[in-house]
Amino acid sequence: MTFTLGLVGLGTIARNQHLPSIEATEGFRLAAIASRNAGLDGLPCYHDIADMLAAEPDLAAVSLCTPPQGRFQQAVQAICAGRHVMLEKPPGASVSEVETLVRMARAAGVTLFATWHSREAAAVEVARDLLQTRSLRRVSIAWKEDVRHWHPGQEWIWQPGGLGVFDPGINALSVLTRIMPEPVHPVSARLEFPANKQAPIGAELAMVSASGVPVDAVFDWRQTGPQTWDILIETDEGEVLLREGGARLFIDGQENISAPDYEYRRLYNRFAALIEAGECDVDLAPLQLVADAFLLGERVETEAFHDAP
Ligand code: NAP
Repeated sequence: MTFTLGLVGLGTIARNQHLPSIEATEGFRLAAIASRNAGLDGLPCYHDIADMLAAEPDLAAVSLCTPPQGRFQQAVQAICAGRHVMLEKPPGASVSEVETLVRMARAAGVTLFATWHSREAAAVEVARDLLQTRSLRRVSIAWKEDVRHWHPGQEWIWQPGGLGVFDPGINALSVLTRIMPEPVHPVSARLEFPANKQAPIGAELAMVSASGVPVDAVFDWRQTGPQTWDILIETDEGEVLLREGGARLFIDGQENISAPDYEYRRLYNRFAALIEAGECDVDLAPLQLVADAFLLGERVETEAFHDAP
């Protein structure tokens, strides 16, 4: 079955990943765009989601590619109009607003899909299966990238609700909460806020699993040169290392998987399957960890950050 889809917010991720992935997915046909600034040749384009929903009664689903702040109101409008909704990560600016969306979607009988694209990286499920068979000793996450390269001019990311360095960091936490055989919670956090920003540029988290396995994470947006998206799991039986955000897997030092990026194709296939099954998929564990880090975090002020160095 093919569902008609409206896409909201024609920014970086919409252009780089959503448009080509929708094109490659049989389950969806892109039928409309809602964008304040842009359009696509050959498609109706509306200023905002309200205009799009009103003008396109046959649109079955919407995909929200906007910043987390403000996405709640867009999702509410779509759910109230009886459309299925796919949310970019993080699913919202707060945990409780997404819980409200889940209740609303269930009451309206529509699918709500909170995506975690990093969980769709090629090695994640293999690592998850492997860790079920091993005794874990320690997990160490290093997620370090150059914000000037990946998020130039994105003001929303530094505002309250924009998450700062947790915007990439939550990708690591989405993988962590998928591969760990048991729940994890933070015990302390250290958050570095630039003097002129509302969101952190660096963070260190100390977490622990239910049975006491220590999990530490370092997120840093000031890394130039080679970028780091690694999760190292030390076990009694040897080391398991996820690299490049989960695209590569090393087991006991040997490379086991290195695969191309089909994360967003998998997300759209899953969205279509959820609609057909009449189900929702909303796992708030990664967002809850971030919220807890903000609750527990020691705040440290660092030098002001400017887009141009
Ligand atoms: P972006 O480049 O800033 O694009 C967001 C788009 O949302 C804007 O171009 C704008 O589109 C629309 N928008 C609506 N209200 C807005 C507002 N108040 N401020 C700014 N834009 C607004 O951001 P992005 O990188 O695509 O990220 C969007 C979401 O995708 C975020 O939740 C992010 O975490 C997630 N994501 C991003 C990446 C990445 O590498 N960039 C990767 C995975 C996930 P119009 O001008 O068309 O209205």
